Amino acid sequence: MDLNTITAVAHPQTRAELPVWTSSDAWLAGGTWLFSEPQAHLTRLIDLTDLKWPALTITETHLTIAATCTVAQLDGLACPPDWLAAPLINQCCRAFLASFKIWKTATVGGNLCMSLPAGPMISLTSALDGVCTIWKAGGGEQKIPVAGFVTGNQKNRLTPGDLLRQIDIPIAALKRRSAFRQISLAPVGRSAALLIGSLDAGGTMSLTVTASTVRPIQLSFPRPPDPGALRDAIVQQITDDLYHTDIHGKPLWRKHMTLRLAEEIHSELTGPARP
Ligand SMILES: Cc1cc2nc3c(=O)[nH]c(=O)nc-3n(C[C@H](O)[C@H](O)[C@H](O)COP(=O)(O)OP(=O)(O)OC[C@H]3O[C@@H](n4cnc5c(N)ncnc54)[C@H](O)[C@@H]3O)c2cc1C
Repeated sequence: MDLNTITAVAHPQTRAELPVWTSSDAWLAGGTWLFSEPQAHLTRLIDLTDLKWPALTITETHLTIAATCTVAQLDGLACPPDWLAAPLINQCCRAFLASFKIWKTATVGGNLCMSLPAGPMISLTSALDGVCTIWKAGGGEQKIPVAGFVTGNQKNRLTPGDLLRQIDIPIAALKRRSAFRQISLAPVGRSAALLIGSLDAGGTMSLTVTASTVRPIQLSFPRPPDPGALRDAIVQQITDDLYHTDIHGKPLWRKHMTLRLAEEIHSELTGPARP
């Protein structure tokens, strides 16, 4: 939709060119959410496109995803064969309630900053131990694990004028064995529960619960627990107030599905490895 209160669009090319933040500004990434609702309080958009951050960079230790990397660019990444967790990338990219038009434009950073419970880029990057780099409005940088960046439904650790620059994923996390489960009320509906489990070479099992909860919740076990202990840990650590409620699913059903999908992930990870 047209945002008819906008009177200026800034196109900074470097950090030094970022304008001084005001309360009627918004960062513009893919614009898929920004242009989907009235934004009567805004008068200026600050377009991130001309910063031209490289979408994806692989080093010996990390995969760096620029905040402006689109979901389609991430989905198209050719991953080395020893990244056992690579299927998670495509699975999470396909967990959007969205058409290809959204997919090609929506950014990974925009998804994190929206901080919706059903944000599949939040699921992916939190499960892979991603760390956000934030350019603080007053100067300097701050690093926050993705799992701690999102604090609730549409709530996160950004303060006005902060800019999410990138997410760094350790290569070691991409080499873990992983399992993915997702469910929606409708066939391509918004995720009502999205769980990712992983098992590292040392036997540590992690479970990241998203979409059913208002923020990502991570559980870690030095070795895979038995199914009953896993269930008890989820019930204890994910209290009923943490389950999300909206038109896409009631909290009791989301809790039920969380326990069921966790059980499936547990049996997949403790069963024989895929060839
Ligand atoms: C049909 C449709 C289906 C959708 N389905 C889903 C879904 O299933 N799950 C889901 O989570 N979302 C969904 N969305 C919402 C939205 O499209 C996605 O969250 C998308 O990833 C947002 O990315 P964007 O680049 O388009 O963000 P924008 O719309 O450009 O920005 C979103 C918000 O984040 C801020 N922002 C963007 N980048 C940064 C940055 N680098 N630093 C600081 N702030 C920033 C913007 O100022 C704005 O407030 C859907 C939207 C539509 C229209």
